[in-house]
Amino acid sequence: MDAKRRHFLTGSIAAASTLAAHGLMAAEQSMQELHQISSPAGGPSGRRLLIQGGTILSMDSQVGEIPRGDILIEGGKISRIDGHIEARDALVIDARERIVIPGFVDTHRHAWEGQLRRINPNSADLMNYIEGTHNSFAIKYRPRDMYVGNLLTSLGAIDAGITTLIDNSHNSRSLKHARAAVDGLADAGIRAIHAPGAPLAGPWDKASWYADLATLQNERFSKPAGLLTMAMMVSVDREQWAVGRKLGLPLVTEFFGKEMSALLPALHREGLLGPDNIFNHCTDLSEDAWEILKATGVQVNVCPRSDTHWALASGMFGYQAAIDHGIRPGFSVDNESAYSGDMFAEMRAALYMQRGVAQARKFGGDVNAPKPVGMRALLEAATINGAAVARLAHKTGSLTEGKDADIVLINTKDINLYPSNNALGTVVGAAERGNVETVIVGGRIRKHGGKLLGVDMERLRTATMESRSYLFRSVGFESDGLAEQFVLSRRP
Ligand SMILES: [Zn+2]
Repeated sequence: MDAKRRHFLTGSIAAASTLAAHGLMAAEQSMQELHQISSPAGGPSGRRLLIQGGTILSMDSQVGEIPRGDILIEGGKISRIDGHIEARDALVIDARERIVIPGFVDTHRHAWEGQLRRINPNSADLMNYIEGTHNSFAIKYRPRDMYVGNLLTSLGAIDAGITTLIDNSHNSRSLKHARAAVDGLADAGIRAIHAPGAPLAGPWDKASWYADLATLQNERFSKPAGLLTMAMMVSVDREQWAVGRKLGLPLVTEFFGKEMSALLPALHREGLLGPDNIFNHCTDLSEDAWEILKATGVQVNVCPRSDTHWALASGMFGYQAAIDHGIRPGFSVDNESAYSGDMFAEMRAALYMQRGVAQARKFGGDVNAPKPVGMRALLEAATINGAAVARLAHKTGSLTEGKDADIVLINTKDINLYPSNNALGTVVGAAERGNVETVIVGGRIRKHGGKLLGVDMERLRTATMESRSYLFRSVGFESDGLAEQFVLSRRP
């Protein structure tokens, strides 16, 4: 151990143990207090909003791109997009020198893992990821930890301009855990599809899982209004698929590799594949598998960073293979246990991996090498294609009159973005979370002036630290925050 690390240990860990001994660790807030951390009603609602004078990248082929235009929002929906709109009573959002885009759609995120951000950044394979999440902390999650994880992830997503998540909640240990996860999404004010799934390790309420799904659906999703809908996270399991379909839930599955590809022909023959299947990853599928996915309309999302980071199958994300088979995949972050939670990084990872592979093929004499991917295609994958994967393209994913107002403003007056000589290049090639100035979800302003609205940031951090301390303590995990690898001294 070097001197710097020893100093850190003697400093914060020793201090932390002393504080713990004296009961001075982050206080556990009551559930009622947790619910007060974030209120989606924090922004103005019911009022007409006018986004004025922005460069509009609509991601709608009919609307196209508008160098300078206005967007009017009424009743939470985009009512008009035009070069100039008069709306005297509307609250005006100045969009001059801003680029206006649809909110990003993250088609696959394990929101419950919020507290485990960068717990295992050098993790090089899936088993090692599972060690640092499912086989350890996940087993000890209380409902309140599900709440905190989902709230933190969702607010972090909104802060980065992600307005829609498919919440792959594969730590749904009980009905109480599922309810708390839904509460976290609701209090954040994000648009989300909550997909409860079976935990990978430890005891859970397996016997009542199917009944609990029906109860949750009845309690929380029986009215079609609002930002939240429900799906079910399933493995390739005919019984689970039948249960989900009986409840009318889309089926979300982690799907990759040749072995899983080999399961598809039989499922196809039985008529069990369709547009209500959402497949994550899709790395290294067989040619047959891609043809079946195309023929049956299965929704595909690829994970530019995750597929590479954890070396899923070949480790090369399935973007090119999907495009080659006429499928338009969405992008997804997957989780934050090793890297950041934003779509800017996904678009950039996709850009360089696709171009690297395309160029290597061309350089090697392949006359069928694909063309280098462009900025528009990448922004489409992160917005409108993702909305289609989530089966929400009628509501979000583009700036279109009649759709819900899920809108992001990128401030090109920031030092890293001006002069903005090409709007698509500015957003896809250069922008970052810090340039996300305003975020509107379903007509409600959730971030403005670069700050989340209606969020008690100090209490959010306290709740997160308390949850993390509990999880660390309960599996006996000690960390100076500098470990190369995730190592647990004893099994939970
Ligand atoms: Zn995943």
